Amino acid sequence: MSATDPKPRLVVGIDLGTTNSLAAIRAGKGARVLRDRDGEPLIPSVVCFLPNGEMVVGRGAKDLRLQHPDRTVFSAKRLIGRAGAEVDREAALLPYRVHRGDRDLARIEVGGRDYAPEQVSAFVLQEVKATAESALGQRIDAAVITVPAWFDDAQRQATRDAAQLAGLECLRIVNEPTAAALAYGIDGSKDGTVLVYDLGGGTFDVSILRIDEGVFRVLSTSGDTHLGGDDFDQLLSERILAAAGASANDAYVLQAVRAAAEGLKIELSQKEQATLRIELQDRAPIDITIARAEFEAMIAPLVERTIACVHRAIADAKLTADDIDDVVLVGGSTRVPLVRQRLEQDLGRAPQTGVDPDLAVALGAAIQADVLAGNDKSLLLLDVIPLSLGIETLGGAMQKLILRNSTIPTSSTEEFSTAVDGQTAVVLNIFQGERELAQDCRQLGSFTLHGLPPMPAGLPRIAVHFLVDADGVLRVTATEKRTGHEASIQVVPTFGLSRDEVRRMMLDSIENAQQDYVAREAIDLRNKAQAMVTGTRKALALASLPPDQTFSVQKSARALEKLLQSGADAAALKVACDELSKLTATIADDVISSAVQRSLQEEQGSNTNPSAS
Ligand code: ADP
Ligand code: MG
Repeated sequence: MSATDPKPRLVVGIDLGTTNSLAAIRAGKGARVLRDRDGEPLIPSVVCFLPNGEMVVGRGAKDLRLQHPDRTVFSAKRLIGRAGAEVDREAALLPYRVHRGDRDLARIEVGGRDYAPEQVSAFVLQEVKATAESALGQRIDAAVITVPAWFDDAQRQATRDAAQLAGLECLRIVNEPTAAALAYGIDGSKDGTVLVYDLGGGTFDVSILRIDEGVFRVLSTSGDTHLGGDDFDQLLSERILAAAGASANDAYVLQAVRAAAEGLKIELSQKEQATLRIELQDRAPIDITIARAEFEAMIAPLVERTIACVHRAIADAKLTADDIDDVVLVGGSTRVPLVRQRLEQDLGRAPQTGVDPDLAVALGAAIQADVLAGNDKSLLLLDVIPLSLGIETLGGAMQKLILRNSTIPTSSTEEFSTAVDGQTAVVLNIFQGERELAQDCRQLGSFTLHGLPPMPAGLPRIAVHFLVDADGVLRVTATEKRTGHEASIQVVPTFGLSRDEVRRMMLDSIENAQQDYVAREAIDLRNKAQAMVTGTRKALALASLPPDQTFSVQKSARALEKLLQSGADAAALKVACDELSKLTATIADDVISSAVQRSLQEEQGSNTNPSAS
């Protein structure tokens, strides 16, 4: 981001959840959620394709879920970027049609039309974007989007594609637990270990983060991809249906009962008991009262499963519960008091509750978005290098300086030498990839270090320094240690960017490197011209040139000075410099001879009159 940017870019953080999605924006030290007209922050990640061709997204679609089970797509996040057997496993649990399409990738079929999961996610993102834009009264430029820590490259890339389809530039994909930790004010300024417990609608994730000098590293993850608040609703629904003596065959009844069960569950997070009035057709209304204790007994086995995952994650991180400095709650289902109690009991400390658990991820993403937009200069450093970075060495080998999965910012230096006697320049080719031969890796850029003193092969000491900054920009510097000669280049390694984006960025940086070089040359030339003007004036004062030569030299120097003052281009400066240096070629000799004469005279003078000194 350049300093001349007219106004800060509007970048939001988006939690693209399995159950609910939402956007937030930086506000002061924290962030605020962008709510819809009714003040609702959460947009159900649900899309319903009605038989009349209409599409409903969000809350409206959630209400249609059981009436149009085969036309209402939810949990697209379970399918995004998935291929092969994973698709079959998820498809078996979803009421709409899912099959393997092109390249074995998951496809969703609704009413004879085929959709990629990223298209469905794009519809959800469009709804989030529209809601956020109307809350802000402004267009949004870009977003940081969160994904589970365990999402692989394909799932991350598909999420980026969804953003692009929705007309959103995805600035960065950020891990959900990292975003949540940020929202809780764990900003990397203090080292520590954080356990993030995320119980959402349909998924449970526990992550252990290690924060070291501002870098968030995911030490371990565990969880259950089919465990969440939906299961609590299901258990309550069964209890309600049994009490009402209703059958589970009617989609409308089921829908109503499911919605009522969720409402009851949410009430039970606040109250010791809650009552529900069920009014089925042709029957007297029935009141069903459920005590919190009864609900807790129902869900206890599910909660225990999450606790077992917590212990697995701690063990996988090779830690014990005592090593955890903070416990952070994420996901709407962590509002259930039993969940908090069990966690506290097991970890021996109360979890942090300062942030709305179902908003935390979006709030943290908004903070990260603001940093990436360049509006906040305090560094937050959250990413890893997906593929190793290195240079090509003799014989085309790829020498890695930064290994894959290093957290950024990161740097590394190695020393190299020349391969040929008397070599005065070396070319540095920068590559990214895991293969041993440079030709099998992706070339990121190339530059030359000039000005090596001619020496036998192997004697020059060339330090190559790789530095990846918080934005993922790689800067490579080569320094010849004896002479201090230095050259460098900047490139942007890929962070799950599309190949085209990476290519464009690469070309950009190479083009800029060229521009930088030209600019550098122009600066050098101006410095040289200025020195010539000053030097010529000094020389003229000393030398005894014939008046006509003095005049033409003065004229030429004045012309060059004028060009400098008017900011003339390099070509014009070069012509004027050449002209002046031709005219002054003889002055040098003159100045030397007059200087010699003067010193001779002084010598004589001192000889004749030693007492004068
Ligand atoms: P996801 O990350 O899967 O998109 P969320 O974090 O939005 O999901 O969590 C949604 C779940 O949280 C739903 O099952 C919802 O019923 C549940 N939930 C929301 N508020 C409460 C509450 N006060 N008490 C219990 N459960 C809640
Ligand atoms: Mg979530």
